[in-house]
Amino acid sequence: MPFAHTQADGSYPLLESLFNALPDSVFLIDPDTSRIVYCNRAAWAGLGYDGPGDLLDHSVLSLQKDVIGPEQWRSIAAEIRSRSPYVFIGRHRHRQGWELPVEVYTSCFSFKGQDYFLSVARDITNRTQLERELSARDTQLRFALNEASDGLWDWEIASNEVFFSPQLKRMLGYGPEELEASFSSWSDNIHPDDADWVRAVLEDHLGGQRERYEAEYRLRNRNGHYLWVHDRGRVCERDADGRPLRVVGMVQNVTDRKNLELRLHKLASHDSLTGLLNRRESEIILNTQIRLCERLGLPLGICLFDLDNFKMINDVYGHLRGDQVLTSVSQLFSQHIRSADYLFRWGGEEFLLVCVDTSLEQLWQRVEQLRVLLASQSWDFLPDTASVTASFGIAVFPHHGNNARDLFIAADAALYHAKSGGRNRVVTACSSGSSITP
Ligand code: GH3
Ligand code: MG
Ligand code: MG
Repeated sequence: MPFAHTQADGSYPLLESLFNALPDSVFLIDPDTSRIVYCNRAAWAGLGYDGPGDLLDHSVLSLQKDVIGPEQWRSIAAEIRSRSPYVFIGRHRHRQGWELPVEVYTSCFSFKGQDYFLSVARDITNRTQLERELSARDTQLRFALNEASDGLWDWEIASNEVFFSPQLKRMLGYGPEELEASFSSWSDNIHPDDADWVRAVLEDHLGGQRERYEAEYRLRNRNGHYLWVHDRGRVCERDADGRPLRVVGMVQNVTDRKNLELRLHKLASHDSLTGLLNRRESEIILNTQIRLCERLGLPLGICLFDLDNFKMINDVYGHLRGDQVLTSVSQLFSQHIRSADYLFRWGGEEFLLVCVDTSLEQLWQRVEQLRVLLASQSWDFLPDTASVTASFGIAVFPHHGNNARDLFIAADAALYHAKSGGRNRVVTACSSGSSITP
């Protein structure tokens, strides 16, 4: 036995003290007989014994709950010899009868021609308990997340694999075994109008510019219909350099709420008779477009127009016919403006047209065409002799004003001059805010 005698150089007491100071249990085992030939203090104290004498010369199998009989020992011994260190998680038997979860590292070494197994066993009771608690907490967390959402996803960036929870698949109309676990199963189904900005928000989060990924967008379901979803996620694992490895998130189906919101927004922003954008919306859009043109150094034209003698149309043909005229003029003009232009019902029989990237000359020509178009139009709901005309006042940013208010005042003054000048005409504002006839 290698440690049986005190060495002349005093190394035995030193080694003994060292081993006894270790918090882990150390066993020296004879591979052939499985007998314990040495154990440190942690080994015997941890198992509830009073000293090493209670364990020495006993078979290590008497401590093991998982190794039964010499047969199994022989095969384990062969494994230890071929693969050092041999690691396993097992259970040691405490003197009182209960078990102790242990992680055991065993390696084989030779001393004076004799093989020994050195086993270092670590009590993992706390770790096992912690793992159990974590796993229970993980289950609770998953449950809570599932309840708080309509589905979970878990994206492993390197492999591009995405776990979609069965709930999420169900929300999109797929069975639990359907929908490939890939990134493209998600990204290919985002609405084309949303895909770019949603990907950009995700990239910003991965790059650290955003604390979390959060987006509300349209996602195609199995039938090809789009659902509105509220999607939230966060990087939950990074490598040593801080690069994201894994992102998890949850999705909520907000289609009903979003549709209601869109309907309410439409009601709030559109005129119910003509379907055009309303005055409230015109103020928001005009300001935004002026700022945009200012940044890009582009001109912007506005045209305020008012139907001529409209009161008379109401009086002669009735209020319902009057409504029909308003609707028809709106439709006619909507069909003849560019897709980038905005047409608003300003109020009553007054309208506002906003044309971005449009010079004064271009605006005048375009509005003059609209004037002629309207005046030459015949209306099947009015007698042939009836004609509908309008007067137009036009102004251009930045020439006639560098904000919405000044521009509008200039166009209004021009419209006043169009009316007083005989109606059915286009008048350009002058720089001072009054107007001139071109
Ligand atoms: P002018 O050429 O000077 O603009 O004369 P006008 O008769 O068009 O102007 P006025 O302001 O005297 O009358 C506008 C009329 O438009 C009065 C109002 O009853 C009518 N009106 C406003 N809103 C509506 C609407 O929604 N439907 C109908 N049918 N008439 C409306
Ligand atoms: Mg009028
Ligand atoms: Mg009017």
